[in-house]
Amino acid sequence: MLPADLIAALDTVAATPRLLVTSDFDGTLSPIVNNPADARALPAGSAALLALADLPHTFVALVSGRALEVLRELSGMPASVHLVGSHGAEFDTGFTQTVDGALLAQIVDSLTEIASRYPGVNVETKPASVALHVRNASADDGAAALAAARAAGTQWTAEATEGKAVLEFAVITTNKGSAIDVLRERDDATAVVFLGDDVTDEKAFARLRDGDVGVKVGPGPSAAQYRIDSPEDVAEALAYLAGRRAR
Ligand SMILES: [Mg+2]
Repeated sequence: MLPADLIAALDTVAATPRLLVTSDFDGTLSPIVNNPADARALPAGSAALLALADLPHTFVALVSGRALEVLRELSGMPASVHLVGSHGAEFDTGFTQTVDGALLAQIVDSLTEIASRYPGVNVETKPASVALHVRNASADDGAAALAAARAAGTQWTAEATEGKAVLEFAVITTNKGSAIDVLRERDDATAVVFLGDDVTDEKAFARLRDGDVGVKVGPGPSAAQYRIDSPEDVAEALAYLAGRRAR
């Protein structure tokens, strides 16, 4: 069951002339899994996004912290759904800024050394950022690894972002909020829907405007106006929106 206030907001936004529907991937379309490579969108959520993308004057994009290529593979989305990776740094059309390769390599080396000291901690290298994942480590090892990475990070001119059991360093400054702005302009959208579950999604919620619909998935403080519990609810909300918009 979706909250009544969200249903009312979806009813209204479904009637906007040019609708842009954007969503995070992990924890939003896809349930969180221990091995990040196993993440898959719930079939009902994917189907609803595809239905939206097929409607006239309706645009759909996934905006994720994942590298664009990984997002493309895991989401399995066709070209009708736009993909934005690396927290907004990687659009289908290419990078929005120049990547400092030397700094990126230095961060990879340092985080790899830290990860080697703590079982279950691993490093994910992306085209413009490096993430230290501690989800599979013990609580003590995870906390120690994150503390070591935070200390190392004070030496780098990189943007640090803390997520759920992850600390990421980006060598270009970007965020999901500016990505939403780019998409809104490109599609000439009259209203935007964004769904997300993590700390990094707050920059997108904060950038939404009157008439937009921001939906936070799960617990925790949020600037989003609406809240639901799970990826199952995300699929239900997207399906409801697609049904309303099709009429
Ligand atoms: Mg997420």
